[in-house]
Amino acid sequence: MSAADHFSASYSEACRRFLDAAGAAGAAVHSHEHPLKGPDGGMLATDIARIGPANARRILGIGSGTHGVEGYCGSGIQTALLSEGFARDLPPDTALVLIHAINPYGFAWDRRVNEDNVDLNRNFLDHTRPHPKNPGYEELFDAINPRDLTPETMAESRARMKAYAAEHGAAAMQHALTAGQYDHPGGVQYGGREPVWSNRTLRAIIREEMGKAERIAFLDMHSGLGPRGEGEIICTEPESSSTFKRMRRWWGDRVRSTVGGGSLSSDVPGSITVCFAEELTGREVTAGGLEFGTVPIGQVTVALQADNWLHQNGGAKNPQAAAISKQIRDAFYVDERDWKEAVTAGARTACGEALQGLGA
Ligand SMILES: [Zn+2]
Repeated sequence: MSAADHFSASYSEACRRFLDAAGAAGAAVHSHEHPLKGPDGGMLATDIARIGPANARRILGIGSGTHGVEGYCGSGIQTALLSEGFARDLPPDTALVLIHAINPYGFAWDRRVNEDNVDLNRNFLDHTRPHPKNPGYEELFDAINPRDLTPETMAESRARMKAYAAEHGAAAMQHALTAGQYDHPGGVQYGGREPVWSNRTLRAIIREEMGKAERIAFLDMHSGLGPRGEGEIICTEPESSSTFKRMRRWWGDRVRSTVGGGSLSSDVPGSITVCFAEELTGREVTAGGLEFGTVPIGQVTVALQADNWLHQNGGAKNPQAAAISKQIRDAFYVDERDWKEAVTAGARTACGEALQGLGA
């Protein structure tokens, strides 16, 4: 079997294959059941597979499905690593914790967001304080959230975003579009006004699984940004931080900081990496996203717009539902063997280097 054989065509298949691979690898497995069901009526859950000593001082965590539909990529990687024996020779005093489908609803329903239309990777901030504003998003609201998906409306949307980029720069355009917003629950890139289920669940998992460790690394698998099959390790702290410097020592110049514009990703508020530092204060925490490129960014943007439009217009009951689900899946998951091999190879290398870094 090659790495590509471990990728799945649905959430329920991904879940079953992950749990089978975890069992075969001798992992301790448990699940956090989600209150809602999948499109096939099946249970949804965030599943955890842990290998290594219960009191390990060093932990490598690998996450998938923070952005729902990106779980096709992350889950395939997790299952491939388990199946090919990545956990067989862990260094002493080290445990591996795989967190499968952090946003299981989005994964099962082919959405990047969760059951509340929330982008989980914008939700990890202090909701008792005023939420960040995104003036570019407000200015471009109608372009980012088109009223319909006709070629005329979509062309108008593209033209307005292009004009904004010409006037303010490509980075400002990307920030407007992707840095989240907290005022339009039915809009693209909504960050939520309270901690959502996956936020609360992940924090509980971190405390349970990593609370006793001293050195913790976490790589969250993402897809959709960058050249096809290539991986960037995204650090949400500035280049001057000790975290960024440690990440560079471990992973070299694949590490890019979102602060200051070196990364494929904008500097976004409420990123998932924040909660590791918050829940594990006083410990050495090295948390980042591992982002794999899929298709050109224009195609990703249109898929996100279509997905959001669909869910403001009947969701699964809309006659266009199946076509738009496929469109969003294709934007975040390249269903071709060479891509699956490439992303698994990138993740295998990065995870191996994380184990070395933790042990050094
Ligand atoms: Zn993502």
